[in-house]
Amino acid sequence: MSDMLKVDKISTYYGKVQALHEVSLEIGSGEMISIIGSNGAGKSTLMKSIMGIVQPKSGTITYDGKDITKMKASKVVYNGISYVPEGRAIFPEMTVRDNLEMGAFSRKYSGDEMEQHIEDMYQIFPRLKERQKQLAGSLSGGEQQMLAVCRGLMSDPRLIMFDEPSLGLAPVIVEEMFKVILEIHQARNIPVILVEQNAFMALKISDRCYVLENGVITLSGKSEELLESDEIRKSYLGG
Ligand code: ATP
Repeated sequence: MSDMLKVDKISTYYGKVQALHEVSLEIGSGEMISIIGSNGAGKSTLMKSIMGIVQPKSGTITYDGKDITKMKASKVVYNGISYVPEGRAIFPEMTVRDNLEMGAFSRKYSGDEMEQHIEDMYQIFPRLKERQKQLAGSLSGGEQQMLAVCRGLMSDPRLIMFDEPSLGLAPVIVEEMFKVILEIHQARNIPVILVEQNAFMALKISDRCYVLENGVITLSGKSEELLESDEIRKSYLGG
């Protein structure tokens, strides 16, 4: 399987604080990978470095053979990578529908294409259709996460990254969220990078996993094997 995205020894700083230390990872075109690690490990920084939201000081990021290390975020999205950030970052004063349209900013859809895409999103989460005219800020946490996922899909990505999609959600919504992420990967054939604190679920649904600790990748491997590893059980699965 050819590598679609390759992160090669990136180091990212906030001022003098080094958040990532020569981090490398790769994802192939048919894969779902997960990244687990405790608070402050650098998971979001890794996502933001890939997206061009923060710039690594050294190392390279290659996507589909193209060097995107210094590419601006809007161009990264245009090139086919989408990011559903931690905390959703929806536009609270805009309607559900307008939020979805914002997700397509990098595409020049015709009116019909826009309608089709929005209908497609409503098929994934019918609740969004019922609330399409409502201000996004008035939605429940779970509905906001659904909206964030769909907004991420509106750009028709060829790779999608989810940052803590289960954070702060009720268990029943968490289950629905993981089901949809799996469907996005399997039915729509989109490679997925999943950042999760829920290590058990991350390992259950991904093919491979990377463990990030204090800005360093300390372990990586097949998820089903890591699920059985003593180290992972002790540190991330509660023994
Ligand atoms: P969490 O799961 O809590 O979101 P994380 O693994 O995503 O954590 P990051 O948010 O990437 O971790 O943070 C990595 C390190 O960089 C932390 O020490 C954090 O305090 C620091 N950091 C993150 N963003 C900034 C910023 N904008 N300015 C300065 N330091 C930052």
